[in-house]
Amino acid sequence: MNHIDTLAVHAGREDFAALGVHAPPIDLSTTYPVADLGEGTESFDALVGGAASAANPIYARLHNPTVGRVESALATLEGTEACVAYGSGMAALTAVLMGARSRGGHVLVVRPLYGTSDHLLASGLCGLEAEFVDAGDIAARLRADTALVIIETPANPTLDLIDIRAVVAAAGQVPVLVDSTFATPVLQKPAALGAAYVMHSATKFLGGHGDVIAGIVCCSEQRARPLRTVRAATGGLLHPLGAYLLHRGLPTLALRVERAQANAIELAGRLAAHPAVARVHFPGLGTVRNAHLVGTQMAGPGCLMAIDLRGGYEAAAAVMAKVRLMTPAVSLGSVDTLIQHPAGLTHRVVDPQARLDSGIGPGLLRLSVGIEAVDDLWADLAQALEGVALSAAA
Ligand SMILES: *Cc1c(COP(=O)(O)O)cnc(C)c1O
Repeated sequence: MNHIDTLAVHAGREDFAALGVHAPPIDLSTTYPVADLGEGTESFDALVGGAASAANPIYARLHNPTVGRVESALATLEGTEACVAYGSGMAALTAVLMGARSRGGHVLVVRPLYGTSDHLLASGLCGLEAEFVDAGDIAARLRADTALVIIETPANPTLDLIDIRAVVAAAGQVPVLVDSTFATPVLQKPAALGAAYVMHSATKFLGGHGDVIAGIVCCSEQRARPLRTVRAATGGLLHPLGAYLLHRGLPTLALRVERAQANAIELAGRLAAHPAVARVHFPGLGTVRNAHLVGTQMAGPGCLMAIDLRGGYEAAAAVMAKVRLMTPAVSLGSVDTLIQHPAGLTHRVVDPQARLDSGIGPGLLRLSVGIEAVDDLWADLAQALEGVALSAAA
Protein backbone atom coordinates (compact mmCIF):
# COMPACT_ATOMS: atom_id res chain seq x y z
CA MET A 1 0.00 0.00 0.00
CA ASN A 2 3.00 2.34 0.22
CA HIS A 3 3.94 2.22 -3.45
CA ILE A 4 3.62 5.58 -5.15
CA ASP A 5 1.69 4.02 -8.07
CA THR A 6 -1.03 2.93 -5.64
CA LEU A 7 -0.92 6.04 -3.46
CA ALA A 8 -1.25 8.32 -6.49
CA VAL A 9 -4.48 6.56 -7.45
CA HIS A 10 -6.08 6.34 -4.00
CA ALA A 11 -4.72 9.12 -1.77
CA GLY A 12 -7.16 11.82 -0.70
CA ARG A 13 -10.11 9.57 -1.57
CA GLU A 14 -10.41 7.80 1.78
CA ASP A 15 -13.85 9.27 2.55
CA PHE A 16 -15.43 8.34 -0.80
CA ALA A 17 -17.00 5.09 0.39
CA ALA A 18 -18.63 6.83 3.36
CA LEU A 19 -19.83 9.64 1.09
CA GLY A 20 -21.08 7.14 -1.49
CA VAL A 21 -19.19 8.78 -4.38
CA HIS A 22 -16.52 7.64 -6.82
CA ALA A 23 -15.07 11.04 -7.85
CA PRO A 24 -14.15 14.02 -5.67
CA PRO A 25 -17.18 16.23 -4.93
CA ILE A 26 -16.57 19.89 -5.80
CA ASP A 27 -17.70 22.25 -3.04
CA LEU A 28 -18.06 25.77 -4.45
CA SER A 29 -19.59 27.38 -1.34
CA THR A 30 -18.04 30.66 -0.33
CA THR A 31 -19.77 30.67 3.03
CA TYR A 32 -21.25 28.03 5.34
CA PRO A 33 -24.34 28.26 7.55
CA VAL A 34 -23.54 28.78 11.23
CA ALA A 35 -26.38 27.14 13.12
CA ASP A 36 -24.58 27.10 16.47
CA LEU A 37 -22.74 30.35 17.18
CA GLY A 38 -20.55 28.85 19.89
CA GLU A 39 -19.30 26.16 17.54
CA GLY A 40 -18.90 28.76 14.76
CA THR A 41 -16.69 30.97 16.89
CA GLU A 42 -14.58 28.00 17.92
CA SER A 43 -14.17 26.93 14.28
CA PHE A 44 -13.27 30.47 13.22
CA ASP A 45 -10.57 30.73 15.87
CA ALA A 46 -9.16 27.32 14.98
CA LEU A 47 -8.95 28.01 11.23
CA VAL A 48 -7.48 31.50 11.55
CA GLY A 49 -4.96 29.99 13.96
CA GLY A 50 -3.84 27.53 11.27
CA ALA A 51 -5.86 24.35 11.91
CA ALA A 52 -6.26 22.07 8.87
CA SER A 53 -10.02 21.79 9.38
CA ALA A 54 -12.76 22.57 11.89
CA ALA A 55 -16.34 21.52 12.62
CA ASN A 56 -17.57 24.39 10.41
CA PRO A 57 -15.49 25.71 7.47
CA ILE A 58 -17.09 29.18 8.10
CA TYR A 59 -15.78 30.89 4.95
CA ALA A 60 -13.96 29.47 1.93
CA ARG A 61 -10.84 31.63 2.43
CA LEU A 62 -10.35 29.71 5.70
CA HIS A 63 -11.06 26.19 4.50
CA ASN A 64 -12.44 24.28 1.53
CA PRO A 65 -13.08 20.51 1.63
CA THR A 66 -12.23 19.96 -2.07
CA VAL A 67 -8.87 21.68 -1.57
CA GLY A 68 -8.38 19.78 1.70
CA ARG A 69 -8.73 16.46 -0.11
CA VAL A 70 -6.01 17.15 -2.67
CA GLU A 71 -3.78 18.54 0.09
CA SER A 72 -4.14 15.28 1.95
CA ALA A 73 -3.29 13.34 -1.23
CA LEU A 74 -0.16 15.41 -1.88
CA ALA A 75 1.05 15.15 1.72
CA THR A 76 0.77 11.38 1.35
CA LEU A 77 2.78 11.41 -1.89
CA GLU A 78 5.56 13.56 -0.40
CA GLY A 79 5.56 11.61 2.88
CA THR A 80 4.80 14.65 5.05
CA GLU A 81 2.19 15.27 7.76
CA ALA A 82 0.65 18.21 5.96
CA CYS A 83 0.31 20.07 2.69
CA VAL A 84 -0.95 23.60 2.14
CA ALA A 85 -2.20 24.53 -1.33
CA TYR A 86 -2.16 27.98 -2.93
CA GLY A 87 -3.37 29.65 -6.09
CA SER A 88 0.09 29.35 -7.69
CA GLY A 89 3.64 28.20 -7.02
CA MET A 90 4.63 31.82 -6.44
CA ALA A 91 1.87 32.27 -3.84
CA ALA A 92 3.19 29.14 -2.09
CA LEU A 93 6.76 30.51 -1.99
CA THR A 94 5.49 33.91 -0.83
CA ALA A 95 3.64 32.28 2.09
CA VAL A 96 6.80 30.47 3.23
CA LEU A 97 8.79 33.72 2.99
CA MET A 98 6.20 35.67 4.97
CA GLY A 99 6.14 32.95 7.60
CA ALA A 100 9.95 33.02 7.77
CA ARG A 101 10.03 36.69 8.78
CA SER A 102 9.20 35.83 12.37
CA ARG A 103 12.52 33.92 12.58
CA GLY A 104 14.76 36.58 11.01
CA GLY A 105 15.31 38.82 8.03
CA HIS A 106 17.95 36.89 6.08
CA VAL A 107 17.63 33.99 3.62
CA LEU A 108 20.33 32.03 1.80
CA VAL A 109 19.51 31.05 -1.77
CA VAL A 110 21.37 28.87 -4.28
CA ARG A 111 21.15 29.91 -7.94
CA PRO A 112 19.97 29.07 -10.51
CA LEU A 113 16.31 28.83 -9.70
CA TYR A 114 13.00 29.56 -11.41
CA GLY A 115 13.20 33.09 -12.83
CA THR A 116 10.29 34.57 -10.89
CA SER A 117 11.46 32.96 -7.62
CA ASP A 118 14.84 34.64 -8.23
CA HIS A 119 13.06 37.92 -8.95
CA LEU A 120 10.83 37.68 -5.86
CA LEU A 121 13.86 37.06 -3.64
CA ALA A 122 16.27 39.53 -5.27
CA SER A 123 13.68 42.34 -5.26
CA GLY A 124 13.17 42.09 -1.49
CA LEU A 125 9.44 42.35 -2.11
CA CYS A 126 8.68 40.13 0.90
CA GLY A 127 10.89 42.22 3.19
CA LEU A 128 13.71 39.69 3.43
CA GLU A 129 17.37 40.12 2.52
CA ALA A 130 18.26 37.33 0.07
CA GLU A 131 21.91 36.36 -0.19
CA PHE A 132 22.82 34.19 -3.18
CA VAL A 133 25.49 31.59 -2.38
CA ASP A 134 27.09 28.43 -3.73
CA ALA A 135 25.67 25.31 -2.10
CA GLY A 136 29.12 24.63 -0.62
CA ASP A 137 29.24 28.00 1.18
CA ILE A 138 25.95 27.71 3.11
CA ALA A 139 27.47 26.77 6.50
CA ALA A 140 29.93 29.69 6.29
CA ARG A 141 27.26 32.25 5.41
CA LEU A 142 24.71 31.39 8.10
CA ARG A 143 23.85 34.31 10.37
CA ALA A 144 21.95 34.53 13.64
CA ASP A 145 19.02 36.01 11.69
CA THR A 146 19.05 33.47 8.83
CA ALA A 147 15.44 32.31 8.63
CA LEU A 148 15.50 29.97 5.65
CA VAL A 149 17.72 28.24 3.08
CA ILE A 150 16.23 27.87 -0.40
CA ILE A 151 17.36 25.47 -3.10
CA GLU A 152 15.86 24.10 -6.30
CA THR A 153 16.91 20.68 -7.54
CA PRO A 154 16.95 19.86 -10.40
CA ALA A 155 17.54 23.53 -11.09
CA ASN A 156 15.65 25.52 -13.68
CA PRO A 157 16.80 25.59 -16.47
CA THR A 158 20.32 24.11 -16.26
CA LEU A 159 19.25 20.83 -14.60
CA ASP A 160 22.13 21.07 -12.12
CA LEU A 161 21.48 18.92 -9.07
CA ILE A 162 22.10 19.84 -5.44
CA ASP A 163 22.77 17.35 -2.66
CA ILE A 164 19.75 17.92 -0.38
CA ARG A 165 21.18 15.95 2.55
CA ALA A 166 24.41 17.98 2.45
CA VAL A 167 22.51 21.28 2.37
CA VAL A 168 20.32 20.20 5.30
CA ALA A 169 23.45 19.30 7.29
CA ALA A 170 25.10 22.63 6.42
CA ALA A 171 21.97 24.60 7.40
CA GLY A 172 21.91 23.10 10.92
CA GLN A 173 18.89 24.50 12.77
CA VAL A 174 17.76 26.64 9.84
CA PRO A 175 14.90 25.09 7.86
CA VAL A 176 15.59 24.20 4.22
CA LEU A 177 13.02 24.69 1.45
CA VAL A 178 13.43 22.51 -1.63
CA ASP A 179 11.60 23.47 -4.81
CA SER A 180 11.06 19.95 -6.13
CA THR A 181 8.87 20.92 -9.10
CA PHE A 182 11.15 19.34 -11.72
CA ALA A 183 11.47 16.05 -9.84
CA THR A 184 7.92 15.29 -8.64
CA PRO A 185 7.44 12.90 -5.69
CA VAL A 186 7.81 10.05 -8.19
CA LEU A 187 11.53 10.75 -8.53
CA GLN A 188 12.52 12.58 -5.34
CA LYS A 189 11.35 12.87 -1.71
CA PRO A 190 13.12 15.87 -0.15
CA ALA A 191 11.35 15.54 3.23
CA ALA A 192 12.90 12.11 3.75
CA LEU A 193 16.30 13.77 3.26
CA GLY A 194 15.60 16.40 5.92
CA ALA A 195 14.02 19.26 3.98
CA ALA A 196 11.60 21.22 6.20
CA TYR A 197 9.51 22.46 3.27
CA VAL A 198 8.91 20.74 -0.07
CA MET A 199 7.49 23.18 -2.57
CA HIS A 200 5.95 22.52 -5.97
CA SER A 201 4.55 24.57 -8.72
CA ALA A 202 1.65 22.11 -9.03
CA THR A 203 0.92 23.87 -12.33
CA LYS A 204 3.55 21.57 -13.81
CA PHE A 205 3.75 17.77 -13.43
CA LEU A 206 1.25 17.41 -10.57
CA GLY A 207 -1.57 18.99 -12.57
CA GLY A 208 0.05 17.59 -15.66
CA HIS A 209 -2.40 18.73 -18.32
CA GLY A 210 -1.67 22.42 -18.68
CA ASP A 211 -5.03 23.55 -17.33
CA VAL A 212 -4.51 24.55 -13.69
CA ILE A 213 -2.24 27.05 -11.93
CA ALA A 214 -1.51 25.88 -8.39
CA GLY A 215 1.24 25.68 -5.80
CA ILE A 216 1.81 23.52 -2.74
CA VAL A 217 4.04 23.35 0.31
CA CYS A 218 4.43 19.98 2.06
CA CYS A 219 5.79 20.03 5.62
CA SER A 220 5.15 19.05 9.23
CA GLU A 221 1.80 19.98 10.79
CA GLN A 222 3.63 22.41 13.08
CA ARG A 223 5.14 24.27 10.11
CA ALA A 224 1.86 24.10 8.17
CA ARG A 225 -0.12 26.10 10.73
CA PRO A 226 1.55 29.49 10.14
CA LEU A 227 1.34 28.82 6.37
CA ARG A 228 -2.44 28.41 6.64
CA THR A 229 -2.63 31.59 8.71
CA VAL A 230 -0.74 33.47 5.97
CA ARG A 231 -3.08 32.00 3.36
CA ALA A 232 -6.19 33.01 5.31
CA ALA A 233 -4.82 36.53 5.81
CA THR A 234 -3.46 37.15 2.29
CA GLY A 235 -5.96 35.14 0.26
CA GLY A 236 -3.56 33.19 -1.98
CA LEU A 237 -6.16 30.44 -2.34
CA LEU A 238 -6.41 27.51 -4.66
CA HIS A 239 -9.91 27.53 -6.18
CA PRO A 240 -11.86 24.28 -5.63
CA LEU A 241 -12.16 23.73 -9.39
CA GLY A 242 -8.36 23.96 -9.61
CA ALA A 243 -8.08 21.55 -6.67
CA TYR A 244 -10.40 19.14 -8.46
CA LEU A 245 -8.31 19.24 -11.65
CA LEU A 246 -5.13 18.78 -9.64
CA HIS A 247 -6.61 15.75 -7.88
CA ARG A 248 -7.82 14.37 -11.20
CA GLY A 249 -4.27 14.50 -12.59
CA LEU A 250 -2.64 12.60 -9.71
CA PRO A 251 -3.61 8.98 -10.51
CA THR A 252 -1.59 9.14 -13.77
CA LEU A 253 1.36 11.06 -12.27
CA ALA A 254 3.73 8.10 -12.04
CA LEU A 255 2.76 6.81 -15.50
CA ARG A 256 3.22 10.25 -17.06
CA VAL A 257 6.60 10.82 -15.43
CA GLU A 258 7.89 7.38 -16.36
CA ARG A 259 6.86 7.69 -20.00
CA ALA A 260 8.12 11.26 -20.38
CA GLN A 261 11.40 10.31 -18.70
CA ALA A 262 11.92 7.37 -21.07
CA ASN A 263 11.33 9.76 -23.99
CA ALA A 264 13.74 12.31 -22.49
CA ILE A 265 16.50 9.71 -22.11
CA GLU A 266 16.14 8.75 -25.77
CA LEU A 267 15.98 12.33 -27.06
CA ALA A 268 18.94 13.47 -24.93
CA GLY A 269 21.11 10.75 -26.44
CA ARG A 270 20.09 11.63 -30.00
CA LEU A 271 20.51 15.39 -29.41
CA ALA A 272 24.00 14.90 -27.97
CA ALA A 273 25.05 13.37 -31.28
CA HIS A 274 23.53 16.16 -33.41
CA PRO A 275 26.01 18.53 -35.12
CA ALA A 276 23.94 21.67 -34.30
CA VAL A 277 24.01 20.92 -30.57
CA ALA A 278 27.06 21.93 -28.53
CA ARG A 279 25.85 20.49 -25.22
CA VAL A 280 22.85 18.71 -23.76
CA HIS A 281 22.26 19.48 -20.07
CA PHE A 282 20.60 16.32 -18.81
CA PRO A 283 21.20 14.52 -15.50
CA GLY A 284 21.10 11.19 -17.34
CA LEU A 285 24.09 12.09 -19.50
CA GLY A 286 26.31 13.16 -16.62
CA THR A 287 26.50 16.67 -18.12
CA VAL A 288 25.12 18.59 -15.12
CA ARG A 289 26.53 19.38 -11.68
CA ASN A 290 26.15 16.49 -9.21
CA ALA A 291 24.82 14.08 -11.84
CA HIS A 292 25.97 11.28 -9.51
CA LEU A 293 22.79 11.93 -7.47
CA VAL A 294 20.73 10.20 -10.17
CA GLY A 295 20.01 6.76 -8.77
CA THR A 296 20.29 7.89 -5.14
CA GLN A 297 18.65 11.24 -4.39
CA MET A 298 16.66 11.03 -7.62
CA ALA A 299 15.18 7.77 -8.84
CA GLY A 300 15.80 8.81 -12.46
CA PRO A 301 17.09 11.70 -14.58
CA GLY A 302 13.68 13.34 -15.08
CA CYS A 303 11.82 14.71 -18.07
CA LEU A 304 13.56 18.04 -18.68
CA MET A 305 16.73 18.99 -20.49
CA ALA A 306 18.37 22.08 -21.88
CA ILE A 307 20.35 22.22 -25.12
CA ASP A 308 23.05 24.70 -26.07
CA LEU A 309 22.94 25.36 -29.81
CA ARG A 310 26.18 26.11 -31.65
CA GLY A 311 24.31 28.69 -33.71
CA GLY A 312 23.44 30.81 -30.61
CA TYR A 313 20.37 33.03 -30.44
CA GLU A 314 19.54 32.83 -34.18
CA ALA A 315 19.52 29.04 -34.10
CA ALA A 316 17.42 28.95 -30.92
CA ALA A 317 14.85 31.36 -32.36
CA ALA A 318 14.74 29.33 -35.59
CA VAL A 319 14.07 26.07 -33.74
CA MET A 320 11.26 27.71 -31.69
CA ALA A 321 9.70 28.92 -34.96
CA LYS A 322 10.08 25.62 -36.82
CA VAL A 323 8.73 23.04 -34.37
CA ARG A 324 5.34 21.71 -35.45
CA LEU A 325 4.43 18.98 -32.95
CA MET A 326 6.12 20.50 -29.90
CA THR A 327 4.58 23.66 -28.49
CA PRO A 328 6.91 26.68 -28.33
CA ALA A 329 5.78 27.83 -24.89
CA VAL A 330 6.91 28.38 -21.31
CA SER A 331 5.81 26.05 -18.51
CA LEU A 332 6.62 22.37 -18.22
CA GLY A 333 5.42 19.03 -16.96
CA SER A 334 2.45 18.75 -19.28
CA VAL A 335 1.46 15.69 -21.29
CA ASP A 336 2.69 17.48 -24.41
CA THR A 337 6.26 18.52 -25.18
CA LEU A 338 7.10 22.19 -24.62
CA ILE A 339 10.19 24.04 -25.82
CA GLN A 340 11.23 27.53 -24.71
CA HIS A 341 14.11 30.03 -24.56
CA PRO A 342 15.01 30.80 -20.90
CA ALA A 343 17.08 33.95 -21.58
CA GLY A 344 14.28 35.47 -23.63
CA LEU A 345 11.32 34.25 -21.57
CA THR A 346 11.29 32.50 -18.17
CA HIS A 347 14.61 33.92 -16.92
CA ARG A 348 14.13 37.39 -18.39
CA VAL A 349 13.55 38.78 -14.88
CA VAL A 350 16.93 37.52 -13.58
CA ASP A 351 19.89 39.92 -13.39
CA PRO A 352 21.64 39.57 -16.82
CA GLN A 353 25.10 38.85 -15.37
CA ALA A 354 23.70 36.32 -12.86
CA ARG A 355 21.84 34.72 -15.77
CA LEU A 356 25.04 34.28 -17.79
CA ASP A 357 26.97 33.11 -14.71
CA SER A 358 24.31 30.41 -14.24
CA GLY A 359 24.91 29.17 -17.78
CA ILE A 360 21.75 30.63 -19.32
CA GLY A 361 23.12 31.88 -22.64
CA PRO A 362 21.53 33.08 -25.89
CA GLY A 363 21.68 29.65 -27.54
CA LEU A 364 20.04 27.73 -24.68
CA LEU A 365 16.64 26.07 -25.19
CA ARG A 366 14.77 24.16 -22.49
CA LEU A 367 12.70 21.12 -23.39
CA SER A 368 9.97 19.65 -21.22
CA VAL A 369 9.42 16.26 -22.79
CA GLY A 370 5.88 14.92 -22.95
CA ILE A 371 4.35 11.49 -23.37
CA GLU A 372 4.05 11.44 -27.18
CA ALA A 373 5.72 8.69 -29.26
CA VAL A 374 9.44 9.38 -29.10
CA ASP A 375 9.99 8.90 -32.84
CA ASP A 376 7.44 11.61 -33.60
CA LEU A 377 9.20 13.95 -31.17
CA TRP A 378 12.56 13.20 -32.73
CA ALA A 379 11.23 13.74 -36.25
CA ASP A 380 9.94 17.16 -35.20
CA LEU A 381 13.21 18.16 -33.52
CA ALA A 382 15.31 16.86 -36.40
CA GLN A 383 13.36 18.90 -38.98
CA ALA A 384 13.50 21.99 -36.75
CA LEU A 385 17.28 21.63 -36.33
CA GLU A 386 17.88 21.03 -40.02
CA GLY A 387 19.82 23.84 -41.64
CA VAL A 388 20.25 25.96 -38.47
CA ALA A 389 23.57 27.82 -38.26
CA LEU A 390 26.42 25.75 -36.86
CA SER A 391 28.17 28.75 -35.35
CA ALA A 392 26.89 31.96 -33.75
CA ALA A 393 26.74 35.16 -35.79
CA ALA A 394 29.79 37.31 -35.00
C1 LIG B 1 6.62 27.34 -12.60
C2 LIG B 1 7.56 27.25 -11.46
C3 LIG B 1 7.39 28.03 -10.31
C4 LIG B 1 6.25 29.02 -10.18
O1 LIG B 1 5.03 28.38 -10.14
P1 LIG B 1 3.65 29.05 -10.67
O2 LIG B 1 2.68 27.96 -10.47
O3 LIG B 1 3.87 29.42 -12.11
O4 LIG B 1 3.41 30.25 -9.84
C5 LIG B 1 8.28 27.85 -9.27
N1 LIG B 1 9.31 26.99 -9.35
C6 LIG B 1 9.52 26.24 -10.45
C7 LIG B 1 10.66 25.30 -10.49
C8 LIG B 1 8.66 26.34 -11.54
O5 LIG B 1 8.88 25.60 -12.63
